[in-house]
Amino acid sequence: MLTVRSLHTYYGNIHALKGVSLHVRSGEIVALIGANGAGKTTLVHSIAGLLKPQKGTILYKEEDITALAPEAVVQRGIALVPEGRQIFATLSVETNLEMGAFIHRNRRDQVQRDMGALLERFPILKERRRQLAGTLSGGEQQMLAISRALMARPDFLLLDEPSMGLAPLVIREIFAIIQRLRDEGRTILLIEQNARAALEIADRGYVMETGKVVLQGEGRELLVHREVQRAYLGKG
Ligand code: ATP
Repeated sequence: MLTVRSLHTYYGNIHALKGVSLHVRSGEIVALIGANGAGKTTLVHSIAGLLKPQKGTILYKEEDITALAPEAVVQRGIALVPEGRQIFATLSVETNLEMGAFIHRNRRDQVQRDMGALLERFPILKERRRQLAGTLSGGEQQMLAISRALMARPDFLLLDEPSMGLAPLVIREIFAIIQRLRDEGRTILLIEQNARAALEIADRGYVMETGKVVLQGEGRELLVHREVQRAYLGKG
C-alpha cells in the first residue's frame, strides 16, 4: 500500500534520513521505533508532504506521492496524528473536528454526519464537544487528535507517538483504539518510544538509528530480539 524507497531528507545541512526504505501493506499495523533523533518524525513528515525529500520515492497505492503538498496527501487518504497532538487548544472540540475535515469543507452534511458518528464513538468527546480543547486531559486530547484525523476519512494513518506523556492505563485505552481502527480496515504506521506496547500490537516493525533502518521483522520477533531488548525494552 505504501512503499518508501531510499529516502533522503535534509534540514539545511543536516542529513536526517539517509536512504530509508520500508513498506506497509494494506491492513497492517507497522511500528517504527528508535531513539530520540533517529529520524522517525522526519520520515512521517516526509510521507505527509510536510518535508520535501531530496532523493528517493514514496509510492502510495502505486502512485508517486513524493512531491505532493500536504493537502494532496490527505486527499489521497493519508492522515497524520502529529507528535504532541497539536490540537487547537483555544478552539472547541467540535471546531477541532471540523478542521480535520478541511478537504471535505464543501460537503457540510457529510462533515456533520461524520462528526456525529465520532462523537457517538467517543462519548467523552461528545460530553465536552463545546469545551475548549485545551481543557481536555492528555488522553482525551489524544482521542481528539485521532478523531480529527479521522474526519478526513483516511484509510492510512500516520500516528506519531500517541502514548507520549500519558499514564499506563490511558496508553492501554489509546492502543485499544488503534487496534480497533485497524480491525475496521485502516492501515497504520505507528511511531513509538514505548517500544513494547507498539510491538505487541504491530504486525511488523522497523527500528531506526541515525537516519537509517537498522532492523526489521515481525512485531513478535522484534520483541524477543536481543538488540531490541537491550536498547529499547530495558533488558540485560
Ligand atoms: P523524536 O522522537 O525526538 O521526535 P525522531 O526519531 O522523530 O525523534 P527526528 O525528529 O525525525 O527524530 O529528527 C531526526 C534528526 O533531524 C535529528 O538529528 C534532529 O536533531 C534533526 N532535526 C529534526 N528537526 C529538525 C529541524 N527542524 N531542524 C534541524 N534539524 C532537525
